[in-house]
Amino acid sequence: MIKKFIRRILGKPKKSERVEPVVLGPQEHRINPQLLSSNAVRVTQTLQENGFKAFVVGGAVRDLLLGVKPKDFDVATNATPEQVKKLFRRAFIIGKRFQIVHVMFGQDIIEVTTFRGSSADNAPKDEHGRVLRDNTFGEQHEDAARRDFTINAMYYDPASQQVLDYHEGIKDIRNRTLRMIGVPEERYREDPVRLLRVVRFAAKLQFTIDPATQAPIKVMAPLINNVPAARVFDEMLKLLLSGYALACLTQLRKEGLHHGLLPLLDVVLEQPLGEKFVTLALENTDERVRQGKPVSPGFLFASLLWHQVLEKWNAYQAAGEYPIPALHLAADSVLDAQTEKLALQRKIASDMRDIWAMQPRFERRIGKSPYKLLEHPRLRAGYDFLLLRCQSGEIDMEIGDWWTDFMAADGPEREELLARKPKTEGEASAPKKRRRRGGRNRTKPAPVEGNS
Ligand code: ATP
Ligand code: MG
Repeated sequence: MIKKFIRRILGKPKKSERVEPVVLGPQEHRINPQLLSSNAVRVTQTLQENGFKAFVVGGAVRDLLLGVKPKDFDVATNATPEQVKKLFRRAFIIGKRFQIVHVMFGQDIIEVTTFRGSSADNAPKDEHGRVLRDNTFGEQHEDAARRDFTINAMYYDPASQQVLDYHEGIKDIRNRTLRMIGVPEERYREDPVRLLRVVRFAAKLQFTIDPATQAPIKVMAPLINNVPAARVFDEMLKLLLSGYALACLTQLRKEGLHHGLLPLLDVVLEQPLGEKFVTLALENTDERVRQGKPVSPGFLFASLLWHQVLEKWNAYQAAGEYPIPALHLAADSVLDAQTEKLALQRKIASDMRDIWAMQPRFERRIGKSPYKLLEHPRLRAGYDFLLLRCQSGEIDMEIGDWWTDFMAADGPEREELLARKPKTEGEASAPKKRRRRGGRNRTKPAPVEGNS
């Protein structure tokens, strides 16, 4: 009461402190209940039947309001992780610092999070202002204020079919605007990963970034360097697998954010062939994601960094190294430089190495070599990568076509293909200079499946 009175005298409360949400009914928000996951509804229902508050939250509500089927569902509740766990047969507490619960239904996971408190002011920070630990439970309105963008801070109760909106998210959804909750500079400083998130959401949703949210991005970009590599990697992977990777990358460049992320990528994108290759690879990935097909992170990162590998491979050979060891040296050097900024998981790095190492082997079309390569467990990924190299104009399309035929052929046909002298001379393992301009347009490219 007194607080309210003081606020009335001092003027409106700050948006980030607003305690009462705007409540929208089904006629106002027009969410199509069919887009809802039945498992998410089971989770909120069970929690509510046991006396807790429970809502679908975050990206899922945003997508529902946009009429898009959410790819996953998060639930926010006032129940503690222990209390949540007890209510479900297959529920696992994840994480050490801030615990969340994964409730499993077959392959489907519903992530259940307890409302977080607004402790950012007194939370421990590093010397740049990045919040290090921030793991208190809190009220729903505090939970809302801690989220990043207004459109990501709404709660939906499937039972009452109401949307709770604390930060005018619905207005921003309607105006297709991405707006940081609170003071953008402070929020980027607290967690610089939000710099990547703003780009991802803008590109993916095709929303406009509000000027105040946009303005600090360029200046604050270097703060990314200070974030643990594993978190940058997670956020970068979300970006690359968003189905809008190409648009995201274009925007990252525009905002000057790509320097800190894939340090070698700026160099690659400055060469026409490198840019062509990365563009083709990302178009291909985006297409697969949008069709709901699986995408391998190893393939993706192998593509992003290939032209850097090529350059170093050439340099090592020019310095007198044999082709194969030169390729391995190039791969090592590129992977080392990358892991400093971006913690590439070991499995991903090893997939990348496999894909790269296969490339010269595709160019050896004599004797037993091609047969051996057919048995390689990562053949499909290597072959898809080869086709990208052909389509980008790096090597002759003829090699890709030959492999398409060879893989489809039966025994005698394979012998025939091997006997047929390849048009490309010098089937050694050295990377080839671009042979023809616009080769891709003249030869029909085989469909690239990528990532298999
Ligand atoms: P997507 O559909 O691409 O997964 P999302 O909004 O669900 O988008 P997530 O990364 O899954 O994005 O995060 C879930 C929610 O958690 C967000 O909607 C946001 O409310 C909150 N959130 C995630 N990361 C941050 C962050 N760095 N700072 C503040 N809030 C965050
Ligand atoms: Mg999500």
